[in-house]
Amino acid sequence: MKWSYRIARIAGIDVKIHITFLLLLAYFGVSDWRDGGAYQGVLSMAFILLLFLCVLLHEFGHAMAGRHYGIRTPDITLLPIGGVARMQAIPERPWQEFVIAVSGPAVNVVIAGGLWVVLLLFPNLLDEAHPVSSEILPNLMTINLALLAFNMIPAFPMDGGRVLRALLAMKLNYLKATKIAARTGQVFAAGFVLVGLGWNPMLLFIGLFVFTAARQELDDVKFREQIEQDGGYRI
Ligand SMILES: [Zn+2]
Repeated sequence: MKWSYRIARIAGIDVKIHITFLLLLAYFGVSDWRDGGAYQGVLSMAFILLLFLCVLLHEFGHAMAGRHYGIRTPDITLLPIGGVARMQAIPERPWQEFVIAVSGPAVNVVIAGGLWVVLLLFPNLLDEAHPVSSEILPNLMTINLALLAFNMIPAFPMDGGRVLRALLAMKLNYLKATKIAARTGQVFAAGFVLVGLGWNPMLLFIGLFVFTAARQELDDVKFREQIEQDGGYRI
């Protein structure tokens, strides 16, 4: 991906950040600095970094599950809209796709659950006397639950779309399963667009994005099926 820079290599996977991610970080840092002083600026940048650490761990969840099935992930890129783990192959069996797709959201469940236990065991972390932990920890827990809910929406390219397709593909053929999953995704997307038109431009944008992605996934699978029927690639 253009404008992406490698910041680390973890477990043989390059971790990259897209330049726009740094712009987002700077934007929130500076605007909160102006509104609430240096302390607020640093706090909100720390929160964004922790949030993206959670996104990174989510992507590592997918990558490690893929590795279990022999699928390599050369890199993970962090973008302002989230993370992308680039896998070198498509999981062959529906069961494998299912495991790889749920392994990301499962990480968010573990993080949210872990934070919940910590806050239960150490309720004084929520005291106003500890402004850093009382502000960051509960928000981090909520945002992990939000990431979980968002990713599990049964629509491509979200993990939920892949989970749905994998479950359907255990009973139906792959193309038919993809068709149903793509249509379901488009129904959700149309709902987002309708709600977004009235109340929330961000939702409108997500709806259009999901709608297109569903279409694209369907086209990709049709194309692959066609090649298989023709007896493979001919160069
Ligand atoms: Zn994911």
